[in-house]
Amino acid sequence: MQGASIDVIERKRVEESLRESEARFRAMADTAPVMIWMSDPARLCTFFNKPWLDFTGRTLEQEMGNGWSEGVHPDDLGQCLDVYVTSFDARKNFTMEYRLRRRDGEYCWILDTGVPRLDDRGAFLGYIGSCIDITDRRQAEEKFRRALEFLPIAILMVDQQGRIVLANEKTEKLFGYRSDELSGKPATMLVSQLLGGSDSTPQATLSSMAQSGVVGAPRDLFARRKDGTEFLIEAGLNTLRFEDEVALLAVIVDRSERYELYRNRQELAHVTRVSTMGELAASLAHELNQPLTAIQINAQAAQRFMATDSVDLAEVREILKDIVQDNDRAIQVIRRIRALVKKGEREIASLDLAAVIRDVVLLLHSDAILRGVCVSLDIDANLPTVRGDKVQLQQVTLNLLLNAFDAMESRPASDRVVAVFITLESPGTVRVAVRDRGPGLSSSQLAMIFKPFFTSKREGLGLGLSISRSIIEMHGGRLWAENNADQGATFYFTLPVGDATQLGRLKPQP
Ligand code: ADP
Repeated sequence: MQGASIDVIERKRVEESLRESEARFRAMADTAPVMIWMSDPARLCTFFNKPWLDFTGRTLEQEMGNGWSEGVHPDDLGQCLDVYVTSFDARKNFTMEYRLRRRDGEYCWILDTGVPRLDDRGAFLGYIGSCIDITDRRQAEEKFRRALEFLPIAILMVDQQGRIVLANEKTEKLFGYRSDELSGKPATMLVSQLLGGSDSTPQATLSSMAQSGVVGAPRDLFARRKDGTEFLIEAGLNTLRFEDEVALLAVIVDRSERYELYRNRQELAHVTRVSTMGELAASLAHELNQPLTAIQINAQAAQRFMATDSVDLAEVREILKDIVQDNDRAIQVIRRIRALVKKGEREIASLDLAAVIRDVVLLLHSDAILRGVCVSLDIDANLPTVRGDKVQLQQVTLNLLLNAFDAMESRPASDRVVAVFITLESPGTVRVAVRDRGPGLSSSQLAMIFKPFFTSKREGLGLGLSISRSIIEMHGGRLWAENNADQGATFYFTLPVGDATQLGRLKPQP
């Protein structure tokens, strides 16, 4: 009995001192320059200081329990409760930003920081939180964001971990992304070398970047669009300091035009070299033709002269005959070079296109076997003839088939199939389709493959398709490429139908 009454007295004393210390805490909290709240182990709020109540204009009774959540902006409430409950259950510190209604009805941005409360023995008592009004900061950020939107250049803001914090509209357009697709993603997704690292090495830290010179003068880098195509940019980096946070601001200028110009110049250099070679061959042919003709005339004169001689000069005559023949051959060769260099008229005839193409497929038969490619031919019955130069059309078909073979080089054997279709597209047009099961063509390849000197092959010249296209266009047809719906690409060409009565000479291209 005696012991029990001592216990009761002791408990009362502890409760008394607790109440006293809580009262002291509340009195202190009411004079603090921040808003303070407390919750119990069941997540329900048990206390709000005077600055909080002054701010919301509500009574303690209204805010107690979950009442406070009525003042949170409906758009932020879900996320706010989510952070609170998850952190609470894990007994972890948290910070979150949300809009809270002020007594005049205006919503203000609040930065809320919560920490778990523990008693002397480490038992969990609930949470205590402090809040500050960050509306000014949020507005400044918003203004900054809007200012970036107005700028006519692409701007990217990157945090210390190399993640995109902000990308203005110009950046989204330049890289082909929607507005919600960039935030939080690694900046290296857009420009692999932006932060100085490479795809395989981890990116540098902001401070080491500043030392290494990545920050500062603009650099020319390769960037990648959402569709995977690459283009050239100029990127300038600057560090930005927000209170205690450091971020990186990248200003990006699209330099693909400059790159295009560079490529065009290179192409031009090639073309000039080739046409110079052509001119050289033409003048060589001209120079050589005359002395060779003279040799021929002299040799023939010698033959005649020797024929009137009484001496038997059979052997000499043989030699002279050989000279004439060799000379003839030399002239033939020179004529060929001239024909190659000069854009002359072609040998146009009425052609059975199916037979022309069948010949090419036969020609490639052993090549196809060696490379494990199966070529199928599908020809419409009763195809009309076309007008054209047989050798040139064979060249075009050969080039398309060899390109298809190359494209399927690294495919499994079952995929190495080329299907050739010859159909009557319209009463006046025959169409040839060469369909492969290779990797197909990217959008940038589709735009480039018909340009001279574009090649993706180590040994490639990049002339096949451009020459093929000009041959087909000279025939009055079209040559183009499309990706197949399932796999690989199909190259098509059309030719106008024509018979012997319409024979004529095709005009060379100007
Ligand atoms: P090259 O013989 O140098 O390859 P071409 O003009 O014949 O020159 O072709 C240019 C480029 O077009 C090739 O290097 C290749 O990248 C692409 N190409 C051509 N045909 C195909 C195809 N069937 N599938 C995929 N890419 C192709």
